[in-house]
Amino acid sequence: MTGIVVQDTTNLLNAIARGAEALSCGAGWPDGMETLLAELGNVTGVSRVFLFQVIDRGEDYIVQDYIAEWVGERKYALLGDDGLSMFRTERSEPEYWAIHESRKAGSHHAIIVSELPDCKVRRLLEGQGVRSMLTIPLMVDGRQWGVLGLDDCEREYRWSESEVALLRTASSLLTNSILHARLHARQQQFDILKRFTDCFAWELDLKRMLLWISGDLSGEPGGRELYLTMNKAFRMVHPRDRRALTRAVNEHIASGEKTFRHDVRLYRPGGGWTWAEIIGSLERTEHGELRQFAGIVVDIRRRKVKEMKLQEQACRDPLTGAANRRTFERNLSFYVDRARSEAMDLALLAVDFDRFKEINDTWGHPVGDMVLKKFVRISEQCLRGGDVLARIGGEEFVVLLPGAGMDSAVRVGERIREAVADLGPLLEAGSIGFTISIGCAIWDDAMSRPDDLLEAADKALYEAKHAGRNRLVCHSGDCPLPSTES
Ligand code: GH3
Ligand code: MG
Ligand code: MG
Repeated sequence: MTGIVVQDTTNLLNAIARGAEALSCGAGWPDGMETLLAELGNVTGVSRVFLFQVIDRGEDYIVQDYIAEWVGERKYALLGDDGLSMFRTERSEPEYWAIHESRKAGSHHAIIVSELPDCKVRRLLEGQGVRSMLTIPLMVDGRQWGVLGLDDCEREYRWSESEVALLRTASSLLTNSILHARLHARQQQFDILKRFTDCFAWELDLKRMLLWISGDLSGEPGGRELYLTMNKAFRMVHPRDRRALTRAVNEHIASGEKTFRHDVRLYRPGGGWTWAEIIGSLERTEHGELRQFAGIVVDIRRRKVKEMKLQEQACRDPLTGAANRRTFERNLSFYVDRARSEAMDLALLAVDFDRFKEINDTWGHPVGDMVLKKFVRISEQCLRGGDVLARIGGEEFVVLLPGAGMDSAVRVGERIREAVADLGPLLEAGSIGFTISIGCAIWDDAMSRPDDLLEAADKALYEAKHAGRNRLVCHSGDCPLPSTES
């Protein structure tokens, strides 16, 4: 063996300690890295200490960039050499590929150039004047980030095991500072994201079942980060959203999908309950066990307002603002279920305008529209909070009265009918009198489908028309408050 010997690894250890100081307490990445490379170069006496970074890697190629070096003498400098910037190696170069594969797995590589077979790697190293070389991969998050290399252009040097172990420590230091820099960059990216979207980050510690949150949710800058027990975390979720959130999380874990998204109302100090979207990513180990569940929470108040407006529109008749047929049918089947299971009273009024064609013919269609709108406003004043007024046809309406028996349904129907008949002048040019006929039915045990109630009310309405209009008729035929056509 020829070449220098690092007589005492204490020197190497001291050099690494000084480099570590520069990386962790001083300049950090990337400036502290220059110090570490110089310390290693000085103490080992090699010609060059360098770093390659893996830029891209595919099945059959790898692209690396020569990003930093320390040289003992100017003549050894390679930084800036075109051949080494974005340096591409193909799988078809077997000697090179074998080196990359072992680096990928984390193994170091010591080469005495004169002992290599005649191949491209040897020719390339000889071209750079290298006589011996040691490379140690830098592994970040289990992946090869790059390579720390030491070239000796004067001597053929065989590294001892303890030297290699120490140089591996140096490579770990570099790896840590790269990770630290990356975290710092991510924090900055997140701060930018937070500034523009009002979001915060979270992570669920799956071992201790603790939820970490970045900031105090108040939205104020510099908010404290928090660790919450699951109980406390759940108290931040609106009681009505808790069950759906638990179900969504469980379904997500069972599905094996990666990205989780769910809308909830969260309590924000000073802001009350506000809509937020929880976005998360579930990472698993290669054995399928849960490793990490983390993500962000985004403020979606504006989106929710728009969504709710659209939802509201989808439930309403655009002309009058009353509920539409779909909403009525949903409510009908909901309340029929309750009438069946809880023996709750349920009544239905079917309303049809009398001789509406004449209103249209006399005053024109727009006036007919105005009358329909007016009717909805008048009727709403006669109803309670839980009652459902819906437009189910041109000038046909229904009123669903949960909890109402025949007497109170008739009372409500009569109030509406009278209010319509008593309406004063609608037009500046003259007055339009208009009336309605109403069929009333209540849910009874003889009925089996929700539609049976609607059919019963329709039948009663038909009778009201036949009996002379402007009246309310109950399905049983006994209407407690008969009225006459005006
Ligand atoms: P009846 O007393 O027998 O109910 O007589 P009617 O003229 O009201 O007859 P019917 O209920 O069959 O006719 C409903 C009319 O309502 C037909 C149509 O011209 C009118 N209509 C339906 N939808 C609208 C609407 O959106 N706006 C207006 N202005 N008129 C409508
Ligand atoms: Mg009509
Ligand atoms: Mg009609």
